[in-house]
Amino acid sequence: MTTTSTPSTVTQAQERYAASLMNTFGPPKLQLVRGEGAHVWDADGNEYVDYLGGIAVNALGHAHPALVEAVATQLGTLGHVSNFFTTGPQLDLAEKLLELVGGGTRAEGRVFFTNSGTEANEAAFKLTRRTGRTHVVATEGGFHGRTMGALALTSKEAYRTPFEPLPGDVTFVPYGDADALAAAVTDETAAVLVEPIQGEAGVVVPPEGYLAAARAVADEHGALLWIDEVQTGMGRTGRWLASEGVRPDVVTLAKGLGGGFPIGACIGLGDAGALLQPGNHGTTFGGNPVACAAGLAVIATIESEGLLERATVLGRRLREGLGADARVTEVRGAGLMIGLDLGEDAAAEVVAAGLAHGFVLNNTTPRRIRLVPPLVLTEADADALLAAWPRILDDAFAALAAGKDS
Ligand code: PLP
Repeated sequence: MTTTSTPSTVTQAQERYAASLMNTFGPPKLQLVRGEGAHVWDADGNEYVDYLGGIAVNALGHAHPALVEAVATQLGTLGHVSNFFTTGPQLDLAEKLLELVGGGTRAEGRVFFTNSGTEANEAAFKLTRRTGRTHVVATEGGFHGRTMGALALTSKEAYRTPFEPLPGDVTFVPYGDADALAAAVTDETAAVLVEPIQGEAGVVVPPEGYLAAARAVADEHGALLWIDEVQTGMGRTGRWLASEGVRPDVVTLAKGLGGGFPIGACIGLGDAGALLQPGNHGTTFGGNPVACAAGLAVIATIESEGLLERATVLGRRLREGLGADARVTEVRGAGLMIGLDLGEDAAAEVVAAGLAHGFVLNNTTPRRIRLVPPLVLTEADADALLAAWPRILDDAFAALAAGKDS
């Protein structure tokens, strides 16, 4: 008699995925079927606490009633119009974003809505060209997206090389080094582009005063200061914008803005808000009323549920607790944007062990863990990870050692 093992749901999903989706992301780890708060469930019925949050996207977690209601109501009222028309949600969200960027008082500026972070950065890149200058200074380790323009501003060789030539005239300088920035920016520079905290690099925090120094250098040469808050914005770091206190000319947002509904924004402040004129740029879906209603619901809920404060408090608690284990050699971040360095290249093993223990974690490099959970994470969710952490590390380092031995 022969026995055949029944393939798991994950294996079946991976086979179907491989047969019908382009292999740009590698095999999916799981097939997820539903979520609630900061928890998700897979097709086999296993529950996980989601410390990835769709890569810093699900600010309100999963299936938040306020977001569901806003999206459903708007879709049932007016789901899409072209950009020949405007809608209430579009006007409201643009005004609200200008208020947030102005620190509570409406900043003078204008918004261009997109569907993603890379598109927000494409819009900003084109905006910088309207200064009449082409040179952009960006940072090593920075990540701005995968479309050709955003990729041109992203330093990672592995992402760039297969697609060269990319739009040129970009200088990369070491991140966090204000002197290097000052040396690279000239009177021909259109813009200085920085993330307030580098996300894809593994949550890299620059020295105190770096953004202010970038502002000063840009001013000295008449260049724009463009701050990419796609990952850090919308409360992720415990503040609406991680760059609060420094005046940008351009801010780009996406990820948390729609809480899972695709939306991005390029915000031009002061004169920069008038650089793109009719015919210079466009989009079919950007500024869609459903996406804007989602953005408004996210902002209202962050305010009503005190999620900035929660991100600050729980982030501190997680950083202290997770960093207390000697196998963690460095802890970085702000709010619920947390980077952990391991003494060894064990990050992939930590992610695998995390999943086995019921936690979705993320590694950005072989030894760096990134945690960007929903802002609705509860104290119980934080305590659950803190309690499981030593065992996750035990299993991960055991797997690493076993791998080295074999
Ligand atoms: N900018 C930053 C700082 C990001 O972290 C990302 C995505 O990770 C992007 C831009 C690109 O955003 P998207 O993936 O929505 O195109």
